[in-house]
Amino acid sequence: MGQNESSGQSTFEWVRSHYDETEMKCAECGYVDEEGSWTSEANGKEIVYRHECPSCEAVRVHTFSLGE
Ligand SMILES: [Zn+2]
Repeated sequence: MGQNESSGQSTFEWVRSHYDETEMKCAECGYVDEEGSWTSEANGKEIVYRHECPSCEAVRVHTFSLGE
């Protein structure tokens, strides 16, 4: 079990850096949050990424299933 957790962790970091680079523009108001970043929560089955626009407070969420 421990070995799979470590490979899941690197996926977790990769996806987060991917969103930090590519998804900073708000779909609601077009504000580009250059200082912001996605926050992430993992519960063992999935990773939930969340970003709140500092301009209009729209929240965007992406959920990734970790699978087995
Ligand atoms: Zn916005």
